[in-house]
Formats: sequence, C-alpha cells, structure tokens
Amino acid sequence: MTTAKEIIAAMSHPSEADIAYIEKAYELAKKAHEGQLRYSGEPYFIHPAATAKVLAEYGMDATTIAAGLLHDVVEDGKATCEDIEKDFGKDLLFIIDGVTKLGTHKYHGAERHAESLRRLLVATASDIRVLIVKLADRYNNMQTLEHVPEHKRRRIALETIEIYAPIADRLGMGRMKTALEDLAFPYIDPDAAQHVAEMRKLKTKETEAGLAKVRKEIGQELAKKGLKDFHTDIRMKGLWSLHQKLKRKNDDINLIHDIAALRVIVPTMEDCYVALGLIHALYKPIPGQFKDYIAFPKPNGYQSLHTTVMTPDAGVVEIQIRTEEMHRHASFGIASHMSYKQLGKDIDQLNPNAQRSRFSSLASSWRSLIPSLMRMSKSGEEASSPAKVPPWLAELAEAHAEATGSQEFVEGLKEDFFSHRVFVFTPKGDVVDLPAASTPIDFAYAIHSDLGDHLQGAKVNGKLASFDTVLSNGDIVEIIRRDSAHPSPKWLELVRTSLARKNIRAALGLTEPTKHPGRRARHRRSSMRTLHGKSAH
Ligand code: MN
Repeated sequence: MTTAKEIIAAMSHPSEADIAYIEKAYELAKKAHEGQLRYSGEPYFIHPAATAKVLAEYGMDATTIAAGLLHDVVEDGKATCEDIEKDFGKDLLFIIDGVTKLGTHKYHGAERHAESLRRLLVATASDIRVLIVKLADRYNNMQTLEHVPEHKRRRIALETIEIYAPIADRLGMGRMKTALEDLAFPYIDPDAAQHVAEMRKLKTKETEAGLAKVRKEIGQELAKKGLKDFHTDIRMKGLWSLHQKLKRKNDDINLIHDIAALRVIVPTMEDCYVALGLIHALYKPIPGQFKDYIAFPKPNGYQSLHTTVMTPDAGVVEIQIRTEEMHRHASFGIASHMSYKQLGKDIDQLNPNAQRSRFSSLASSWRSLIPSLMRMSKSGEEASSPAKVPPWLAELAEAHAEATGSQEFVEGLKEDFFSHRVFVFTPKGDVVDLPAASTPIDFAYAIHSDLGDHLQGAKVNGKLASFDTVLSNGDIVEIIRRDSAHPSPKWLELVRTSLARKNIRAALGLTEPTKHPGRRARHRRSSMRTLHGKSAH
C-alpha cells in the first residue's frame, strides 16, 4: 500500500502546508474506502493511493495529488461535496466532479460511458487537471485490469487505446501514452501482443552488442569535438506502436529501424545541430530519413532531431537528438509545465505580465511551445481570457458537447483523435492540424467558421483546387472568401471533421434531433458566443 510518506517523497519541494493537505486527504480517503475491496480482493484504497503517487511523480501540485486520493470518494457516496469543498477547496471538488463517473440511474451501458467521457471533456475545458487525474486513474486501473471480470476487460482496454492514449499523446505525455497502449494491447489482441513482444526481444538481442558499440563511439566522438554535459540512452519502441508499424510494413520486421533508437541528450538547441553534424560525419545518413522536429515541432509540442544512419556495427540505426528540456516535455508533456520548479520559470520567462496564479499561466506556457496552435485561435476574446487548456482541447470539448447520441459522440472523438493527421499551411506559414483525408472545406472551418460559411474557392499549392481535393502533408492552402458564397448540402459528403460538419449543418438550418433540448440548446448558444464571437448566429 502506497503510504502518505511515499506520495510526499515523490513531490518536488512541497511546502509545510502542502504536506498537511496531502496527509489530510490521505486520511479521509483511507477512512472513506474502509471495508471496500477492489476486484482483486485487495483494499480499495490501494487504487487512489497509487493514482496519487503517479500524479506526484508527474510533478503535479498538491490540489491535483489530493484529487487523486479523493477521486472515488464522492462517487461511492462516502463523503459529501459540501464537506470536500469546505476542507479541500473549490478546485479540488471541481476536479473530482469531472473525473467521477455518472450515477447509474440516468444512463445505462454504453450510453453511460459516453456521457461520462463527454462530461470529463467539458470539465477539462475549464481545468486541464481533470484530464490529468483521469489519465493517472486509468493508468492504475489498466495495471490491475486482469482482476476485472472478463466481459469488461476488452471494453476498458479498447477505450484506453482509442481515447485515453491518443489524449495523452495530444497532451505530449509520451510516457503515459506508451504505458497505456502497452497495458491495453494484451487484452485487445493477446496473440499479436505475444508475437510482437517476442519479435522485439529477438531483434533486441540481435542488435544489442552492435548498438552498445555505436553508442560508445558516438559518445567518444562528441566528447572529442568538445561537446559537454551530454548523455546517451537507448529507448525501446512500445509494443502497440511497433504492432501498428508492422501492420503498415507487411509484418516485415527488417524494414523497421527504430525498434531500439539511440537517444542523445545535450544541453542546448545549438548543441543538437552540432551533434547532428558530427554524427552525420561519422556515419552516412539514409537520405530522406532526417526530420527536424526542433524547427517544426509536432502539434503536441514534441521536439527532437531524428536521423537514420548506416553503422558498421549495428546496421541501420535511428538516432534522436534533443535537449534535456525537450526530453522532459516529450515524456511528461503538458504536465511538465505544472511542476513547481518549472512553473515559476515559465511564468517569469514567458509571460512576465501574467496574473501570478499558477494555472492561469498554463495556457500561455503551453501555447508558447506550440506557436502553430496558438495562431490557429485568433479570436481576440479568447486571447484576453485566462484559458487553462490548449485551444484544440477546448474546441474538441465544444465540438463534441452537442453530439446527439453516445455513438455519434464516440465516433466523433475517434475521428478527431484516432486517425492519422495531416499538417497543412496557410499562405502565411501557420500550421493547421487536420485529420487525414481532410478537404479545403475542413481547412476553411478549422481557420474560422465565417471563412467556411463563405467559402468560394480554394487554391492548393498555388493552383485552384476542387472542394473534394484531399489535402496532403505540407500543402499550402489558400481560401477564397466571398460574402455571397454559402455552404451546400453536398459539402457534408466532402468533409472529414466534425467541426466542419456541425457548422455546415447549422448554416443549412438542419436541426439535429436532441435528447435534452433545453440543456443542450442553452449550452450551444453560450459556447458559440465564446468561441466564434459575433460570427455565430
Ligand atoms: Mn478510480
């Protein structure tokens, strides 16, 4: 059983008040879950205590860690919301309320899961910590999934792979993403999971000695040429991710060169390029395999140089070069900007005039890492309000808040998260991140609903393109707007994003059947105002 001491020890520089707060939450949760058992037959409290420890390891603040301890207390009816708010504050109550599954009385089965997810996303749009607690909760549940009744396991594993791992990925939490995927994999396809694990083991054994030699050689070369304070390590590709890649490569493991990649971690960004030059001088790079994610970060903020080289000792080897800072971000993502040490630094360096509240500064530190996303949300209203989440997440919650049924909701989520993405550019060079097979209509709506609603024509890479053109990575898309242009019902067949579909339906006056007309309609009006300003109708 994880003790309060262990949780506190995992925190970075907790204050006296933080320690007392965590201890109080620990005691309450322990008492509340007394006598309850997990499926495994162990005391229930093992679960919230382990969840809290994960949150502490991710560098989260005391409120979030305490929320991890208390996240199942209200659901199980052992404590009232009033007591929690009085003792632990509004923020904590809000977080656990967002994480809590819905009661069984109103929704059933799949409907209940979808409704819980929808609520989670809506709550996350006001406080990203809700989602981080949910991910830590899910992570611990996946670790103990073997004890859950068999008929539930597959559903939980699928939901983890289809929804929670992609969310962790979009938040830049690479470590969490891989852990969730690999925990779920054996429950989704036990044979494949075993097969891939064996293949990885075999391949690793084969290249181990050679790779160690390459690692040593690179280390010596960098040191000889004056690079200081760097270190190298070897990262293994996750099993689920390897499985996906194998499927794309006709199950030929010899075509996959990043099962074990060599990582070089250096102090500064300049050092990254110096190290790259030295490595390319040492081993011949494979043409077309170099990727500069430092100059062009992935939409989730991931930065690194990737190159693939031919080595005499280990054959083809993928090498990833990054700074310590980039490395931390690649592992912990948005959570790395909530740690005590880092947060102070972010506020001072990036946002000197910001309100000195810990979480109002989050959006700005996050956005500074992802300029492309920042440029995507141009509404002045939004910029001045202290948003707490990346804009794409707020938009996602908004886009799906109105889905009419649980099936549509889950499909919409999968569409936005699960499919591969393409990255296209505006004529000014801003990046727009869209699902694969998106068209210029999706692009126009991704920029602004007004642009979509008055879309007259589109140019792709300087040439006029029809509305059914499928956009590819790197395309430069220019939208021609005209006041008299209006959406046509045909567009509904050409779009890929739910955002575009929703806007087109609205512009065409197609009303969607709604289960709870009063509540949803209210929500729609108020959120449209916030997101789209005057252009909404
Ligand atoms: Mn839980």
